[in-house]
Amino acid sequence: MINKSKLIKYSSEYSDELSVDEDLKKIRSCIQCGMCTSVCPSGSFTALVTRKIMRKALAGVHSVLSEPDIWYCSTCFNCYERCPRTIPVTNVILKLRNMAVREGYLPDALKNVIKNLANTGHAVPLGGADSKWAKLRELHKLDKIPPTVHKFPEALDELFTLLDKIKFNARIPYR
Ligand code: SF4
Ligand code: SF4
Repeated sequence: MINKSKLIKYSSEYSDELSVDEDLKKIRSCIQCGMCTSVCPSGSFTALVTRKIMRKALAGVHSVLSEPDIWYCSTCFNCYERCPRTIPVTNVILKLRNMAVREGYLPDALKNVIKNLANTGHAVPLGGADSKWAKLRELHKLDKIPPTVHKFPEALDELFTLLDKIKFNARIPYR
């Protein structure tokens, strides 16, 4: 017996995504051949099994959103190119990620990346004028502070405007 509370709500808030989204609709033709898994470089080093992601997404199994596996994909598009049913596998994974974030699921490491982005404008901050990167830039006769939001922190306001517009803080608190 399938526990319905453990199924993805593809309906209501998500406007019945499985039936209206062109990429998600295509997973219905998945034949579980495993080609996507066999060509997946990330799958060789992580728990990512692309074929299983497709099966869970098709069946609407909620754990596909809450488990970290979809975040191991490096979006190399190998699976997309090789799927014999021309399923846009990478796009499906990206859409599942979007759905996961809307439900508040994001691995802690990625939450930290978002926090960095919100606080400094960089996913990987370069550090201040005394950092080793600043010294390296100086060595190569570059500005110690690069001409990004590190130099123009007021530009962060535009980032906050964008993040606020999509209500990002409510889903993944970053400040
Ligand atoms: S390669 Fe395509 S058809 Fe085969 S399991 Fe992956 S998504 Fe399904
Ligand atoms: S796009 Fe992602 S799932 Fe597809 S082969 Fe590359 S790493 Fe694997």
